[in-house]
Amino acid sequence: MKNLEITYNKGKENEFKATKGVNIEIYPEEYIAFFGPSGCGKSTLFYCILGILAPSAGEILVKGKNPYKFSAEEMVNFQTSVIGIIYQAFFLINSISVIDNVALPQIFQGIPPHKRNQRAMELLKRFEIDSKAQFYPDNLSGGQSQRVSVARSMVNNPDILLADEPTGNLDSISTKQVMDALEEINQRDRKTVIMITHNAAQLKYCHRVFYMKDGVVARVVPNPEKKQIAKVDKTQMLVTEMEQLSRMYPYDPPDVLKVKSLVNFLTQDLNFDQLARLEGAIKVMVDRKTTPDKLIEYLTASYDAGGVGLSKPRARKITDKIVKILDQSKDIQRYRRRLLRADLFTNQDELVANITNYLIVDYHGNFTPEQKSNLKNAIFDRLVGNFRKEGFEARIATPVKDGGAGFNRKTAHNLTLHLEKILIQGMETGGE
Ligand code: ADP
Ligand code: MG
Repeated sequence: MKNLEITYNKGKENEFKATKGVNIEIYPEEYIAFFGPSGCGKSTLFYCILGILAPSAGEILVKGKNPYKFSAEEMVNFQTSVIGIIYQAFFLINSISVIDNVALPQIFQGIPPHKRNQRAMELLKRFEIDSKAQFYPDNLSGGQSQRVSVARSMVNNPDILLADEPTGNLDSISTKQVMDALEEINQRDRKTVIMITHNAAQLKYCHRVFYMKDGVVARVVPNPEKKQIAKVDKTQMLVTEMEQLSRMYPYDPPDVLKVKSLVNFLTQDLNFDQLARLEGAIKVMVDRKTTPDKLIEYLTASYDAGGVGLSKPRARKITDKIVKILDQSKDIQRYRRRLLRADLFTNQDELVANITNYLIVDYHGNFTPEQKSNLKNAIFDRLVGNFRKEGFEARIATPVKDGGAGFNRKTAHNLTLHLEKILIQGMETGGE
């Protein structure tokens, strides 16, 4: 997209610029997300890519061609075989069976009926919905309907899969099934996947995220967990979470990033608007300008009443964790001050022992003395910077006999995240 602008009701009284000067490039085989709050222009771009909403200014090219210059025939081919489409509301045809819904787009390709059904059945099997082939869409659950539309989107083997809030109407189990299907379509079938979402938990699947705000792409963020397809400056790739966050939010000072880091840790499933409010609340807490009870009150107040709309147990859990991490971080702050004064070794053993105890409070397995001592050594190495985060995680996942702490991968990962939170919150950001 080059300087792409889309204006609704152009020249009329209610003229509205939904996108303003979007300049982006999406590469073949990339999985990207447009992420942003409701009304920021995500679906507008979706319709534009699909060839049904012409730019008011600027240009869009798909596979090097401008779809708005296609003949009618080229356009049909484009919309049925170059691009596969998944909508939030499924848009299955209720008067024909599931298998016919999936087979239908092949008609425009002139494929004979038995071949159409064979291909449709293959896809229904692949997405584990073949048992419903003869049902009518009315009789399916939301999750089942969306898997049918994933199958339909793939039936003509398109190069690009376009999905607008594909899990917006689904429960968490169906959401996972659909997200797994999209990931597989990207990774195994090597399709370009363009997903629209306002759910932060889904960004981890993507190579890059286009953050949208008020009709512009405000930031483009490569996912450090994915091998990049776009040319991303390797030396700019991220090492610590603070560096990572500071790249995502280049205009935010470190204390704001500290808040974001906590929010990332505590929430995987909130929507964009809830996240923004939660960040505000946690900032107040990090600045120690409110009490845990007040925070819980705000977190549980309904969204419409200006709160975040969390359940009580969840709000309590989040608040407890924040209180704990902030508390634990005080030791790190003291430690860092001492580090500056160069009397580093005074109480180091005590600090390392304390942090070890914080970390393992929620760990219910048994510890051998050797294991605990190896964990302490690893924590010490992380504190003084002998390892980065990844090194720490690898070390504590190493068997005890090889000098590690012998945790399984999941525990090692969780303990590492927890330690990083304590470290980040303990970082001096001026002022104090
Ligand atoms: P998103 O998908 O990010 O929620 P949309 O792309 O649907 O946002 O809408 C972006 C903005 O354009 C919104 O303010 C919306 O009200 C406006 N808009 C969308 N469609 C139309 C339309 N057909 N006519 C006028 N305004 C529209
Ligand atoms: Mg939308």
